[in-house]
Amino acid sequence: MTVRVRIAPSPTGNLHIGTARTAVFNWLFARHQRGQFILRIEDTDEERSHPEYTQNILDGLSWLGLNWDEGPIFQSKRLDVYKQKVQTLLDKGLAYRCYSTEAELEEMRAAQKARGEAPRYDNRHRNLTPEQQAAFETEGRRSVIRFKIEDEREIVWNDMVRDQMVWRGSDLGGDMVIARAAENGIGQPLYNFAVVVDDIDMKITHVIRGEDHIANTAKQILLYEAFSTPIPEFAHTPLILNMEGRKLSKRDGVTSISDFKQMGFVAAALVNYMILLGWSPPDSTQEIFTLEEAAQLFSFERVNRAGAKFDWAKLDWLNSQYLHNMPVAKLTDLLIPYWQEAGYEFDPVSDRSWLEQVASLIGPSLTRLQDAIEMSRLFFIKSVDYSKDAIEQLSQAGADTVLQGILTALDDATQLTEASTQEIIKQVTKEKNVKKGLVMRSLRAALTGDMHGPDLVQSWLILHQRDLDRHRLQQALRVRG
Ligand code: GLU
Repeated sequence: MTVRVRIAPSPTGNLHIGTARTAVFNWLFARHQRGQFILRIEDTDEERSHPEYTQNILDGLSWLGLNWDEGPIFQSKRLDVYKQKVQTLLDKGLAYRCYSTEAELEEMRAAQKARGEAPRYDNRHRNLTPEQQAAFETEGRRSVIRFKIEDEREIVWNDMVRDQMVWRGSDLGGDMVIARAAENGIGQPLYNFAVVVDDIDMKITHVIRGEDHIANTAKQILLYEAFSTPIPEFAHTPLILNMEGRKLSKRDGVTSISDFKQMGFVAAALVNYMILLGWSPPDSTQEIFTLEEAAQLFSFERVNRAGAKFDWAKLDWLNSQYLHNMPVAKLTDLLIPYWQEAGYEFDPVSDRSWLEQVASLIGPSLTRLQDAIEMSRLFFIKSVDYSKDAIEQLSQAGADTVLQGILTALDDATQLTEASTQEIIKQVTKEKNVKKGLVMRSLRAALTGDMHGPDLVQSWLILHQRDLDRHRLQQALRVRG
């Protein structure tokens, strides 16, 4: 048997971290089993589904490296298939038309509430006679289609994460609606129904999804039985929680993959983080994984049952690991869009080697790609703003002579290299009879406007190539007045 799994996002929003994590587990399982990973877009809800969300989902999965073997298959293109299958259940007597109005259902629920009962449909139209049906129709009532759920039924499955699961039919809210009302015939099919029809047609062997779908699974198993088809295996993965232990939601800020990308997380790091969100590797000390490496080791035995807390510090740490170990050419490619977005002026082609020097200098200090905007500003702008500490440094006795000395040395230097910058520093220290610390600190203040920052000599060399060092030294001399 070939393993076939699927991810089935609804395009009612951008690709959510929870959906992406479910996609990761499906992908890992499929690859581990040498099976197939299929993409289905659940877009039957016409009002809430939008093509730009579909695009965002496809882009997000591709960006993360979660390549799929079949699809995308769109539910909206299969409406006729679902309607036919609804008809099959009607013909078998396993489904029926319910003519209850919204007001009647409201009244029924209010009465249940008054009796202290949980709200449910009381199956009142399960056994209508043809005459009763005809009467409702003459009245002009429309009907939804309901699937029969016996209260006495016990639904049992062996969940790949949660072991044995037992549900009672009586806990499923009564006979369930599988298709909305329509003027004539059968209306829009609902989620639980369309999913089962698709999973059967797509020969899905394992349904891997968030644990918020557990009650749906109980209902869906009954539908498989109704169609007399084999029931797939189920794995319900733990939800992603915020640091307070509640389900991660929009209120927690960033939740969609495109936002994480925008903030400067790299795909490999985000995927690595999601792999560890709910799964622990056999060697618990290993934290850095590619998708392929994790796929080799993946099994549901090591997926936790408890919710997985989303830990920004861990994600940041992983991202920094990927950024610090990245070849400079790749890092530069990733940084260019951020520098462009910040409005910095440069030519990505002719300035390439200079950009690589900037990337290589700030790379080891980056946590997120976006940090590069602030960290490298001083290389792109002409004049810097001097911090309070820098102004204090520049006002120290001797700072002006030091800066003058460096300017003169720069005029004499034919070419600036790492060795010649060291030489200039040494020479000025000696000539002006000052401490080397004063030279270094004044130079840093003058060139960068700040007292902290990346390696001074490297920064100087980078600034020099744009003739910014001279400009800043002169600027600093004016600032100290
Ligand atoms: N469209 C559903 C969702 O996005 C799919 C659930 C499933 O995998 O069956 O939650």
